[in-house]
Amino acid sequence: MAEAEPLPERLDRFMARANAIYYASRDPFADFTTSPEISQVFGEIIGLWAAVTWQLLGSPAPVLLAEAGPGRGTLMADALRAIQRAAPTFAAALRVHLIETSPRLRAVQAARIPGTTWHDEIGTLPAAPLILLANEFLDALPIRQFVRRGEGWTERFVVGGEWTEQPASPGDVPPNRAAGEGDIVELNEPSRGFVAAVAARLCRHPGAALFLDYGPARSAAGDSLQALADKRPVNPLTVAGSADLTAHVDFADLGAIAKAHGAAVQGPETQGAFLSALGLFQRTERLARSQPEKASALMQATRRLADPEAMGELFKVLALRSPAAPALPGLAGC
Ligand code: SAH
Repeated sequence: MAEAEPLPERLDRFMARANAIYYASRDPFADFTTSPEISQVFGEIIGLWAAVTWQLLGSPAPVLLAEAGPGRGTLMADALRAIQRAAPTFAAALRVHLIETSPRLRAVQAARIPGTTWHDEIGTLPAAPLILLANEFLDALPIRQFVRRGEGWTERFVVGGEWTEQPASPGDVPPNRAAGEGDIVELNEPSRGFVAAVAARLCRHPGAALFLDYGPARSAAGDSLQALADKRPVNPLTVAGSADLTAHVDFADLGAIAKAHGAAVQGPETQGAFLSALGLFQRTERLARSQPEKASALMQATRRLADPEAMGELFKVLALRSPAAPALPGLAGC
């Protein structure tokens, strides 16, 4: 009997399936490097940002210090160490909650961050004041892609490791993207849903959220889907489950969604400007003085985080806060 033809799979379903296998079965950090894995100063600065934010929120106790997609738990571990030293009252008031779907990564996080509570999604966080962190979380959530064809649109599906297109419902295509024939427009529904849920929650309970990720400041057409294996780009369609699939985060779109759901929004700001405003270089210099044998490696790592040609410009920071909260540090206020 002939084998049944495989059915085309919509790109977001393909990406969700591939990443679920990938994060459950591999050590992602052999394939790509994230800011907290580059330098301990990154997590420390974010920890101090959280401490100042907590004070601006009126020092509520208890307060949830949550992170979405914490990976190896490095950012949270570095943040907690800085918080314990610089802000012991905040350290005593905070409860760590992690949003993580990979059982394998949960085990890694458990070993580094004692006393953690885990969640599969944001909806189960308890009702309490919240400071939420997310670094390179939104870029791993599955996207849909639409292609401009003539007067209409098609949607991209995957079959047998190849692209195929099917007619799209015009209502599914994000509006306001200038697109010419053959141009691709992306839509990240889970990211939109996540940011909308955070913003709605910030209207019910005091708090703030900080998203750091890569993508342009303004919405643009273009195919940004990428797969990295062993730190090199590979074909995203043929590596299902053995490479990490990511896409650019549309910060302008997410900022608008957060506002529409009632949150106050700051940014997007570039990662370089944000970290520099919070004292990245001063902190690195202080650390380098206490560990002279590591001084040049520390400085190099800091430059990688902040230099425009490295991660300083492509990476952006977006902050949300409760409508009544004052402006948060590191980003132009509004
Ligand atoms: N923040 C970390 C890791 C980024 S990798 C760092 O900067 O190093 C993406 C993380 O998001 C992983 O921990 C992965 O397991 C998690 N993740 C991916 N999809 C998720 C989802 N739908 N819900 C919760 N966590 C998810």
